[in-house]
Amino acid sequence: MLVVMKAQATPEEIQAVCDHIEQLGFRAHPLPGAQRTAIGITGNQGEVDRGNLEELSGVAEVIRVSKAYKLASRDVKEEDTIIRFAGTDATIGGRDLAIVAGPCSIESRDQAFAIAEQVAASGAQFFRGGAYKPRSSPYAFQGLGLEALRIMAEIRNRYGLRIVTEALDNESLELVAEYADVIQIGARNMQNFSLLKRAGKLRKPVLLKRGLSATLEEFLMSAEYVMSEGNYEVILCERGVRTFTDHARNTLDLSIVPAIQRVSHLPIMVDPSHGTGRRDSVLPMARAAVATGADGILVEVHNQPDKALSDGQQSIYPIQFARMMDEIAQIAPIVSRQLPRGIHVDAAAV
Ligand code: PEP
Ligand code: MN
Repeated sequence: MLVVMKAQATPEEIQAVCDHIEQLGFRAHPLPGAQRTAIGITGNQGEVDRGNLEELSGVAEVIRVSKAYKLASRDVKEEDTIIRFAGTDATIGGRDLAIVAGPCSIESRDQAFAIAEQVAASGAQFFRGGAYKPRSSPYAFQGLGLEALRIMAEIRNRYGLRIVTEALDNESLELVAEYADVIQIGARNMQNFSLLKRAGKLRKPVLLKRGLSATLEEFLMSAEYVMSEGNYEVILCERGVRTFTDHARNTLDLSIVPAIQRVSHLPIMVDPSHGTGRRDSVLPMARAAVATGADGILVEVHNQPDKALSDGQQSIYPIQFARMMDEIAQIAPIVSRQLPRGIHVDAAAV
């Protein structure tokens, strides 16, 4: 159910409607829009009695949301969600493309700083790097953990890059939330519902990667898990799905970008690195992703990919990243987007 408030409804009227909903034993989710505020109701098994709600002051109408996902749906919030980062002009979901770049894993301070310096110089606003890695083999490199988080915190201070890193489980979630600006939940965890709910209790943006075989509805239902706990800052990320294809690691499903944008207000980014698994496919698919109207690109960059401890074969060189930025900057205006202004690098500090 959704309570649509009148355009002129006061904050007190909105609060009174939320209180009423909570008194009924449900959860109220006020979602301010450009024209008016809508209040999503969750926690109800069946229909909520709309009679009383419609009579409350400031209420325009009460409507039933028929889709399984509600808070993620455009029925509840028409305008695109734009996520902002205090102290920077970085955004995700606005006119500026959000560019997240960095190695698959943080391997050492030197490696991370060398890559961060170069991606910052090329205009990335977000730095990625795994501290806790979901590896198919228990014998493969599992990440540096806390040490990696500390290195990334230093990188944020030095280069002004916002940090995106993965929480693998409930234990790492707390530490990741402390250090990161965006908490990544990986493809393998897309349906780890207890992790999603915990991330929903935090007030930090969550970058949710599409599961290896997730449908659009399953993907949005996972976002809904986070939002149902009150965290509305969810960024979706297409990273390829499993198909019979044997020329690439995964099949990057760019067709989900307009499909998501049709039904949801949440930003959707594309990861052409995991989506293809091949360095030589990353640039073409990054260009294509921008052309489809994606809100940003998440890409793996490594200064010595041959020596990388994870995903070296799909990591591009910093020089290729610079080229990618140049190319997508040219495509962006065709889809009414732009690359953000390069961030300021303090040359004296480098
Ligand atoms: C990653 O971003 O390095 C990663 C493990 O991603 P995914 O969950 O999409 O495989
Ligand atoms: Mn990776």
